[in-house]
Amino acid sequence: MEALAETKSHASLQTLPGDDVRQMMWRFTDRYELHMLVQAARHVARGPVARLVAGGGRNSHEWTADKAALLPHFDESGITAAFLDPAQGGFIAGPKNLVLALIAFELAWVDAGAATCSLAGNLGLAPIHERGTPEQRAKYMVAAAPAKPGDHRKQVRAAFALTEPIPFVGVETGMLAGKVRVAEWKEGDEPVLQVDKRGRFITNMGFANVVTAAVDSDDKRIEGSCMVILEEDDPGLWDRGTPTKKLVHQLSSTNDPVFSLRVPARRIVGGYAVRDGVIVPNYSHSEIIEAVFRRTRVTVGLMTSAKLLSAVEPIILYQRRRFRGGEGAPGTPRFELGIQQKEDALHRLLDVWATGEASASLGFAAARWFDELDSLEKEKDQWLAEKKLTGRAAFKELSKKQDEALELLKITSRPVGEREHKREEELQSDPLVRFAMLDSVANVLCPACKLWNTGHGANMMREAVSLMGGYGITEDCPGFLGQKWMDAQLEATYEGPEAVQRLQLSLTMTNELFLAQFEQWIAEMRRIASDRPGTGACTLATAMQLWMWAIKRVQTATDADGDRLYHKSRQGVTFPLADALCWLLAARQFILDVVELDGKGTENSALAESLAGTVSFFTDLCHIQTARAAGEVGRICAEIIHGYNRHPAWDEASCHACYCASELESLESIIPGIEGSARAYSDVYESNESHPLKAGPCVRFAGLEAFVRLRAKLDGCLTGCRLAKDRAAEALTKVMTREALDYPA
Ligand SMILES: Cc1cc2nc3c(=O)[nH]c(=O)nc-3n(C[C@H](O)[C@H](O)[C@H](O)COP(=O)(O)OP(=O)(O)OC[C@H]3O[C@@H](n4cnc5c(N)ncnc54)[C@H](O)[C@@H]3O)c2cc1C
Repeated sequence: MEALAETKSHASLQTLPGDDVRQMMWRFTDRYELHMLVQAARHVARGPVARLVAGGGRNSHEWTADKAALLPHFDESGITAAFLDPAQGGFIAGPKNLVLALIAFELAWVDAGAATCSLAGNLGLAPIHERGTPEQRAKYMVAAAPAKPGDHRKQVRAAFALTEPIPFVGVETGMLAGKVRVAEWKEGDEPVLQVDKRGRFITNMGFANVVTAAVDSDDKRIEGSCMVILEEDDPGLWDRGTPTKKLVHQLSSTNDPVFSLRVPARRIVGGYAVRDGVIVPNYSHSEIIEAVFRRTRVTVGLMTSAKLLSAVEPIILYQRRRFRGGEGAPGTPRFELGIQQKEDALHRLLDVWATGEASASLGFAAARWFDELDSLEKEKDQWLAEKKLTGRAAFKELSKKQDEALELLKITSRPVGEREHKREEELQSDPLVRFAMLDSVANVLCPACKLWNTGHGANMMREAVSLMGGYGITEDCPGFLGQKWMDAQLEATYEGPEAVQRLQLSLTMTNELFLAQFEQWIAEMRRIASDRPGTGACTLATAMQLWMWAIKRVQTATDADGDRLYHKSRQGVTFPLADALCWLLAARQFILDVVELDGKGTENSALAESLAGTVSFFTDLCHIQTARAAGEVGRICAEIIHGYNRHPAWDEASCHACYCASELESLESIIPGIEGSARAYSDVYESNESHPLKAGPCVRFAGLEAFVRLRAKLDGCLTGCRLAKDRAAEALTKVMTREALDYPA
């Protein structure tokens, strides 16, 4: 093991990571159907999509024939049918979250508008997929499968219409202007509904022939809101509306449509019951969109990850060739390395790369998580149906499962010898307990991935663009980086902008069951740190502890005026803590993926020569990302923990006294003892009864001693992170690349 560690520390990155590495990190090595699908999607992305972008296809708002010509490519390559079950004309059985994530990643590697065009069809069908009646599924999902040769049926192309013209639905999804009324209801017959809906920014609307639309009741004979399936041939008005003059994702079609249509009541997604002469939809529009978005948002998050990772090779190529003019001769550093001679350019590229890796790791982990959750969710629904539990009664039963899941976590956190094995087995084998555990994490992973991957990802795409100089902001930029930067902003916006994800996180990240699992993840990082300190797992564990301390504190603490800190209207507290959590989750998943690669990589003989170098480089990249995450988390938590306290007196004397007498003095006593190790600091603190922080001379720190100690410890944990960056920077100067990208510019 030591010998291996030794080799790894000296091995260097030979080539950019290929499919073998990705399959292992993102855990689909054994899924050959996915390998094939990735190849097929890549072929479309780097072929017809790339040619269309390079040929200026993005320079129009309209849905042109050239853009429409991509649809048959999606159909023929299997991209369209990948969403469907085999019985519906698809070819992959089981959950499809990872499948769709991989397709989105491949398409967005070149152009996220093309990815959106393909995925928006799935989004349009998703209400039917998630909550539709068996009849609705049979009709629309099957009709969405590409027609086979000789089969002349009209293929369903779907769109999803929630957003409405201002001042109605946007972030606030409850403000529906779209209405549904009973148009006709003859005794004993199925009611006919009148649906009026205007949409804003509806993707695929240039060509969709089926729309799932969110509407509210405008009739005493219909209860609440619902989603309704609209078809192009329904009687009434089907106006596709004007194309949106968007600056992004121009290969997808976006319009502001107007519908005024009569449809049979069986088009209510998920069906309805008639109670006392009132149509009661089985699902409200918000129940449906919640079920839909919690899956589709993960895929969006991965589009931005693809952009960041796709930027690495064009930037390296650009940097290396930049100084080849003038007197430089082959073989000289100036000729061979170009801008790569400059440390800052290398370091910034590493930041882009590390962000791309961490966000891809987070996104694919979330996709896999939902794959596992999907089947458990079905079991849960069946269990509730068998027990005839709905509404509050169902909620009560599921809360019991949450308590049992907490009990299981308590048992498994004890040493094996001290556990109640019988109870452990009993709880482990209960699918509903497992569901409760996974669900609590899924409720965090999805918004975290959408928020961090796209929001922070968009910021980092700007960094990527800046590394290409003026070229970065031209249409000719290799890798289309300028367009990708703008596109990333849409990914941060549609399917709910960052505020929506932060709002959701502020509710789900304080779930006791999530926090209990997060505690276990801290212990897991400490264990990894003892085997692989180079990953920065120790730093991450401390940053996770700091966040945990802060989140627990703010839930009970008040500010200087006695007002509660953790409250839904206090977004200044909840939102930054949500951001901080995302940094941790992404860095954690990146470390876990590198550990996976290190552990399983030897099973693949094709990786034999390059594995050690790849793992060594990725280990340094993890360290870089962890250090950055720790910095963000430290800053955010410190602002919140200290920022809502009032400074005792802001005059020079007290300020001076305060600082000199406690903080500076304590730091002086800390620093000589710290010797580069946070544990040493901790020991110094523990053994020193007269430590100024313990004595608490500064009222500002009263009750916050543990936080202050953790924060100082976190700084100490950064030891070595810049050495890792230097090593990784050197690797960037040596890694082999292709002579040119495999798609046109
Ligand atoms: C190209 C494109 C394609 C799209 N495709 C579709 C589609 O196919 N179907 C569909 O239904 N929609 C679609 N959308 C709409 C998209 O989902 C919405 O634009 C998005 O959800 C935001 O709504 P809004 O633009 O009305 O922003 P607003 O609701 O006006 O919000 C603007 C900003 O205000 C702030 N804000 C708002 N509310 C809050 C709050 N509660 N707390 C804190 N801050 C807040 C946030 O910063 C937010 O970003 C698309 C949009 C675009 C641009």
